[in-house]
Amino acid sequence: MKCVMCNKGEFKKKMTEYKEFGVSLGKYKANVCMKCGEAFFDSETAGKIQDKSKALGLFGLAKKTKVAKVGNSLAIRIPKEIADFVKLKKEEEVRIVPKSQNELVIGIN
Ligand SMILES: [Zn+2]
Repeated sequence: MKCVMCNKGEFKKKMTEYKEFGVSLGKYKANVCMKCGEAFFDSETAGKIQDKSKALGLFGLAKKTKVAKVGNSLAIRIPKEIADFVKLKKEEEVRIVPKSQNELVIGIN
């Protein structure tokens, strides 16, 4: 079986660390592509990873938010769960960097 991501690599079973939002959820058995490094987990393992993610309060942390207008600028409301996760407080200074034309990265000190 060839890797569906790169269409070239063969798989090897390997214990692989799974990270969500930069937080390690532990190591799990995965089929890892020897070419591109993409890791694939079976559905039982994916279920275990999801349970761990829920237990750590990470599951569903990525949320949709609306852009509001404030004077001539635009404001993006950051949901409480995300603010808590990154320990962001009111009046704190952040750095906004466009990563591309459809992605912003917000750097927090
Ligand atoms: Zn691959």
